[in-house]
Amino acid sequence: MIDQNSILIIYTGGTIGMIVDDETSALVPFNFDNIYKQMPVLKKFDCQLQFHCFESLMDSSNMNPEVWAQLAGIIESNYEQFDGFVVLHGSDTMAYTASALSFMLENLNKPVIFTGSQLPLGVIRTDGRENFLTAIEIAAAKEDDTPIVPEVCIYFENQLLRANRTVKYNAEFFHAFVSGNYPSLAEVGIKIIYNRNNILKPNFKKLKVHKQMDTHVGILKLYPGISLTLVDSVLKTSGLKALVLETFGSGNAPMESGFINLLKDSIDNGLIIINVTQCVTGTVLQGKYATSMPLKEIGVTSGKDISTEAAITKLMYLFGKYHDSDQVKTLFQKPIRGEITA
Ligand code: ASP
Repeated sequence: MIDQNSILIIYTGGTIGMIVDDETSALVPFNFDNIYKQMPVLKKFDCQLQFHCFESLMDSSNMNPEVWAQLAGIIESNYEQFDGFVVLHGSDTMAYTASALSFMLENLNKPVIFTGSQLPLGVIRTDGRENFLTAIEIAAAKEDDTPIVPEVCIYFENQLLRANRTVKYNAEFFHAFVSGNYPSLAEVGIKIIYNRNNILKPNFKKLKVHKQMDTHVGILKLYPGISLTLVDSVLKTSGLKALVLETFGSGNAPMESGFINLLKDSIDNGLIIINVTQCVTGTVLQGKYATSMPLKEIGVTSGKDISTEAAITKLMYLFGKYHDSDQVKTLFQKPIRGEITA
């Protein structure tokens, strides 16, 4: 039997919360005090909804680890009172925030469903309405009194995806997110079909929230013609502890000795370099091609099939918790929230 209970909706900002102002015709943020007037359909849920609005609503391009910590804190302080959480968030950096939250919320046993939209709620053809309503339904869904999806997810355009496997790949169409390396957790049509085998199982342990994120990490995307001066200056960034190197195809990079030597010197000096593919789907296989052999030889760490978004936020989380680079490197390669294939 599926019951529904109480859901906290946290509104951080983004397109979804916009409506057209009657007087000026401009897009303005929705006032959640009037939510039932704007969306009377919400009264039909047989669960209680409560709203928490950020004081200053954010375009998600302005998100940062302090706000992630604030969000984690809101979930922490409301964790016992609610059965699930819906986070309304701009789509641009949703995959980063949702990935970060997946690491920050250890032993999560309740749904945290991120959603947003490409068109504001107040626009006739909005995708926000369906995204919002279904996200609530998923956050409230239980079986035998246990949440069906006890993990951080992104729900967008009929698909429920694991947050730390998701990337935004389309800035125009409603189908804006993809999880290239992990199947969907649910598909939504007339019914919500949960793909139970893909969903993490609850561990019934006490929630532990980690708010400390270390930002001494970075991303460097390779491209043909990248200059050694640029690579060198990134590697010499003061305080840098780890670099996500976005490589070609299955983890390939230029073999030029000047480039490889720069990477090697940094690794020898303690920098962690993670090899992540620029492709949306597929995995890094260091050694498959000659062009990835040197990376393997100098000690670049394979990021396997992790997304860039999950890689950078996982590094922030791990360095927020551990000081020892070797420990971070070891933990990075193991799945801790289903973000990487073992
Ligand atoms: N720029 C907006 C944001 O990410 C776009 C959106 O909401 O989808 O906040």
